[in-house]
Amino acid sequence: MPIFNDTKVAFADKSDAQLRKAYWMFKMIEQPALTSLGTSVLNFTVHNNFPFVTGIVKSTLFEQFCGGETREESMKVVKQLFKRGVGSIFDYSIEGKEDEETFDAVCKEIKDIIRFSVGNPAIPFIVFKPTAFGRIDLYEAVGKGAELTSSQKEEWTRVVKRFDEVCKLCHENNKKVMIDAEETWMQDAADQLCEEMMEKYNQEKPIVWNTIQMYRTGRLEYMEENLQRAREKNYFIGYKIVRGAYMEKERARAAEKGYADPIQPTKEASDKNYNAGIDFVMNHLDKVSAFFGTHNEISSELIMDKMKEKSLENGNPNIYFGQLYGMSDNISFYLSDKGYNVAKYLPYGPVKDVVPYLTRRARENTSVAGQTGRELGLIKKELERRRK
Ligand SMILES: Cc1cc2nc3c(=O)[nH]c(=O)nc-3n(C[C@H](O)[C@H](O)[C@H](O)COP(=O)(O)OP(=O)(O)OC[C@H]3O[C@@H](n4cnc5c(N)ncnc54)[C@H](O)[C@@H]3O)c2cc1C
Repeated sequence: MPIFNDTKVAFADKSDAQLRKAYWMFKMIEQPALTSLGTSVLNFTVHNNFPFVTGIVKSTLFEQFCGGETREESMKVVKQLFKRGVGSIFDYSIEGKEDEETFDAVCKEIKDIIRFSVGNPAIPFIVFKPTAFGRIDLYEAVGKGAELTSSQKEEWTRVVKRFDEVCKLCHENNKKVMIDAEETWMQDAADQLCEEMMEKYNQEKPIVWNTIQMYRTGRLEYMEENLQRAREKNYFIGYKIVRGAYMEKERARAAEKGYADPIQPTKEASDKNYNAGIDFVMNHLDKVSAFFGTHNEISSELIMDKMKEKSLENGNPNIYFGQLYGMSDNISFYLSDKGYNVAKYLPYGPVKDVVPYLTRRARENTSVAGQTGRELGLIKKELERRRK
């Protein structure tokens, strides 16, 4: 049996009724036409407070992919996951809002999460998105080295302050913090800021972790350069290594503006580059720790093999595996069962605020080749196993 196919382990926490509901939901998600129609209808109705629709969303998509409407409500899921050795990473994001009030409110919420999770090993990481703390256009201008106006300079100072407050609080409370990666045109400024935070707070161990998207070209070179700087300045590096989530948007923008596509030419090239990222980490474990955020079974198995080759214990504190809540439980629970460090992103918030996240999950599940089919196949297999 392929190693990640043990559905008894994957779904041990799910009742038959929950599995049937998940099956029905992934079946709906599998229909691209339904998903695209559904997402516009959903965004409209939930935002305009149709309680009936909100109720349906809450008991379907929300229940599958989110922890709860509040941190407290999500603790039930956190505890359930931790009982099986899987950590939770509270993912708070209000998408699409770009005003100072929202940036401050999100920053406060992230700091509250840190305080809430101090000393709780079930919540091993804190996470935030750079664009939750500042406007994407500002990151782009800073990354390009553009001349900023005085008000832009003040605005950027506030972004840096938000980063610093969160990273400092994590440092004081011994919590690791991951910073998500986003679009290439804002990432240079975010990388620079992440490096500044690493230099400041990673002197003894990796507290601040940047994210590297291996679907991009040139990322191995960036990691080499970053490593050199870390050696010179004597700090540790933490990386979340992912493939990358913005391919269509990146390609469309590059074509429209007439610059070279920043994404690897094929899926195979992204996979090859991801594997090279695994090697990079394994060859520099004295300085680099990694959280491999992937639902790819081959990559996950490769990481396990490389760890064995290096004679690392399964629970080596420098290596983590990560998936999203509601997806790829077959990988998460297999790994945690074997003593590897595993943590899942756990989005939470009022239903209407997480609808953009949920509809993105639904759309991604239709575009990420094979993901929905794989989930459906596993649920079906488990339901059949239980019937026997
Ligand atoms: C815990 C966690 C955290 C994450 N954090 C981030 C983050 O901070 N930033 C971010 O951008 N993403 C993030 N992601 C999403 C991630 O980047 C991937 O989009 C997603 O996980 C699917 O990739 P995969 O490795 O799981 O699986 P796979 O199904 O093996 O890979 C799918 C991915 O391959 C790449 N790909 C597909 N087709 C092509 C093609 N034709 N040419 C080139 N490349 C192709 C794309 O990146 C696509 O998403 C995160 C994912 C997880 C699980």
